[in-house]
Amino acid sequence: MKKYTTNDFDRDFPDNDSCLEWLKNQKYPKGIFCQKCQRVTNHYRIHGRPCYSCEFCGTHVYPMAGTIFEDTKFSHLRLWFKAIAYMAVTRCGISSRQLSRDLGVTVKTGWRMWTEIRKALAEGNAIKFLGHVEVDETYIGGKARGKRGRGSENKTVVLGIVERKGRARGIVVPDIKAKTLIPAIEANVLKDAIVYTDDLHSYDKLSNRGFNHKVVEHSQNVYVVAGDIHTNCVEGFWSQLKRSIDGTYHHVTAHHLQGYVDEYSFRYNHRKDEQPMFETMLEKVARYSS
Ligand SMILES: [Zn+2]
Repeated sequence: MKKYTTNDFDRDFPDNDSCLEWLKNQKYPKGIFCQKCQRVTNHYRIHGRPCYSCEFCGTHVYPMAGTIFEDTKFSHLRLWFKAIAYMAVTRCGISSRQLSRDLGVTVKTGWRMWTEIRKALAEGNAIKFLGHVEVDETYIGGKARGKRGRGSENKTVVLGIVERKGRARGIVVPDIKAKTLIPAIEANVLKDAIVYTDDLHSYDKLSNRGFNHKVVEHSQNVYVVAGDIHTNCVEGFWSQLKRSIDGTYHHVTAHHLQGYVDEYSFRYNHRKDEQPMFETMLEKVARYSS
């Protein structure tokens, strides 16, 4: 993945106008369709205002409308772009307090930007997984982080779903009971999928529910039963996620964990992209309608 430096940022986005221009081009790659003229027309920028005007009828179009920048002053648009650049620059992300410090804004403003950007990154999580899908649960948080163990106190359960050679998603769940895990899997995985899990009994009903269910018997020290029956991908996802949380936070509350897992999953899902993470994140944020 290409690096994106602060020099790149200053070159591409020297001011608020260039950010607005980028946003307009991103939202309307084939030109702006004028509702009144009922066709794509030339639009020119209204000087000093965050809008473009139809050359024929004068109807105004505001590219920031309907995006996470909608309630933001135009004079802060570049600051938001910068926030995305800061959030994209590290492998493990940054905390909202760190973001506030880096941008020189109040904790409250930093928190709002951080939350909105993450919300935009999490969009699209409704698309179900298919093919070979590994499912596993883990415990995150509490004092002894990173340790696997069922029934651990003060820890939050996360259900991980990873498509082999594909996407990953983590879902914060209240417990590891079948009545919790099965519906969460059904909400995220297509019935045609082959689902690989360990031998936790909560997963037993997966085949009754129509999944092609393959079990890896971890508890008998059998890590690979035969050929492709393993959960190595989701375990790799866990170890990277936990390392990343340890690198960023001293403590993640259960309440904030979902947002963190979503941001992490986004990075994981785009880890092999050619273009810099900043561009991927910026494009995603621009596509998101608030
Ligand atoms: Zn028009």
